[in-house]
Amino acid sequence: MQTAIATVSLSGTLGEKLEAIAAAQFKFVEIFENDLLSFNGSPAEARAVIEGLGLATITLQPFRDFEGMPEPQRTRGFARAERKFDMMAELGTDLLMVCSNVSPESEGGIDRLAADLRELGERAARRGMRIAYEALAWGRHVNDYRDAWEVVRRADHPAVGLVLDSFHVLARGTDLRAIRSIPKDRIFLVQIADAPRLDMDYLSWSRHYRCFPGQGDLPVNDFMVALQATGYEGPLSLEIFNDRFRAGSARSVAVDGHRSLIFMLDEMAATSGKPATGRPALPPRAPVEGVEFVEFAVDDTHAASFEAALTGLGFQKSGVHRSKAVERWTQGGVNLIVNREKEGFAHSFNITHGGSVCALALRVGDAAKTLARAVSLLDQPFHQRVAPGEIDIPAVRGVGGSLIYFVDGSSALARWFDVDFKAVPSAPQHEGQGISRFDHISQSMQYEEMLTWLLFYNSLFDVAKSHVQDVLDPGGVVQSQVVETANGALRLVLNGSQSRQTLASRFLTELFGSGVQHIALGTDDIFATAAALRKNGVPVLAIPENYYDDLEARTGLSDAEIARLRDNNILYDREGAGEFFQIYTQNLLEGGFFFEIVQRRAYRGFGAANAPIRLAAQTRLAAPASVPRF
Ligand code: MG
Ligand code: MG
Repeated sequence: MQTAIATVSLSGTLGEKLEAIAAAQFKFVEIFENDLLSFNGSPAEARAVIEGLGLATITLQPFRDFEGMPEPQRTRGFARAERKFDMMAELGTDLLMVCSNVSPESEGGIDRLAADLRELGERAARRGMRIAYEALAWGRHVNDYRDAWEVVRRADHPAVGLVLDSFHVLARGTDLRAIRSIPKDRIFLVQIADAPRLDMDYLSWSRHYRCFPGQGDLPVNDFMVALQATGYEGPLSLEIFNDRFRAGSARSVAVDGHRSLIFMLDEMAATSGKPATGRPALPPRAPVEGVEFVEFAVDDTHAASFEAALTGLGFQKSGVHRSKAVERWTQGGVNLIVNREKEGFAHSFNITHGGSVCALALRVGDAAKTLARAVSLLDQPFHQRVAPGEIDIPAVRGVGGSLIYFVDGSSALARWFDVDFKAVPSAPQHEGQGISRFDHISQSMQYEEMLTWLLFYNSLFDVAKSHVQDVLDPGGVVQSQVVETANGALRLVLNGSQSRQTLASRFLTELFGSGVQHIALGTDDIFATAAALRKNGVPVLAIPENYYDDLEARTGLSDAEIARLRDNNILYDREGAGEFFQIYTQNLLEGGFFFEIVQRRAYRGFGAANAPIRLAAQTRLAAPASVPRF
């Protein structure tokens, strides 16, 4: 299948859009007429730009309010069409996309509409061109693809075909079965868009909230399965209208678009067992078995206080890198890497973002296959020079320019800490504090980026996404979405906010970009861990009294139980019979990073009910950039 994208999906001038589309490795493009009208040059000059970038135009769109018009509008409609055909000849495309009429003046009647399209097709054919007819979900007389197909069928002209647009079909919940019986050569164009489920009129929903397949809630895969039954092999084109995309960079949106199509087609091929023509199958989505390590980029000024905090949390320095200023800290199954190098990736990351998490390493089934899949999905691989004998761990770029390393059970990668690190003879200052595993990783990002990273994780790893939750922050609303494996080995919480005043947004400002805001570590005895933190002087977030008064009313916990939570600044939540306990440290790095310590008892969530309390407590503290001294 030819994959394409409509210029309307991206921000910028026509030139910028086309460059972004070519850079994202598309070969085909739909030209939106407005982009052509605002282009500083003739359609022939636009064609030169398009072809110069190695692209070809599959259609000019849209041609509106044409069919079913009374005279004199009907005659004027044909005259308008002739001018479009002139433009198309210059632009170098043979297909005009016609949307169903929304004009109150238009008249219905399938045969009348079919006759108009037939005549338009006849005129197009005289110039070696074709027309394709689309049912807009809000079309006045034709708003159902089955009616559009009936119009096309009755027009009965080889130059008249159908457009199937997944948004228009799925938004109305139209039965998909009729798609299967449409002859494939009568479908001239398929447009693909997803959207979140929203209760609003079709026009506003379509114009502002469309997104790439897999980013929304519509059953795009069901649509594709029905399409596949026809044997259709024509162009598959993204047509997205979305305010977030218009606010984002054209280049990254175009890459997201292509990634979403590659992902969708690969999933289709895997489900049906029929590989798409000309597309080799990708390695499967990588199963994630756990977080192998988290790496912090820290400078010498902040390293001592950060390492004191790690010690206070019960971590022990267990390894020193053979050739770099890098240390390994461990507790239970948790590996933290502290990188104080003066050159290389972590150093530049520290200069840009301040002390912060610069890399995550995930334990996957097969690191090489995961990297191969990532590259096929247009993710950006990363390489850094390593000293002889040291391990070159496969990696791609993640949120905010950070890295995601892939480690697997193969001999070299599984022993990264032996190969690259000298063990430190154990001299425990603290016995562990009961922390045994990574529980979840919370990343804050620009609101516009949330869909990007959702698609990134979902296309590469075997994870599922939750519904978006709104969390109240004293400075506004934060949107929160969870991406996790079925067994909880990887749990990522993505947070984005449009308000500049929320903690998530302030974190971005302090950190100069998106990144890991906190890491939650799992303990098996939250009270023992809390006592150890107090003893070791690790600064924890103070929770206000009112919270505990309310908790008493809400949960029916005994006075003694409430007092125990209050004395330890522990937040508490319930989910059926499940229980959840949380403690937050204060900020530990100048980038605003902090740890959360949690204990789960048959509880799957993330303490969303407590998030406003926690955010208010953090906001009351000094600015996020302040680093406590202890
Ligand atoms: Mg469309
Ligand atoms: Mg959390």
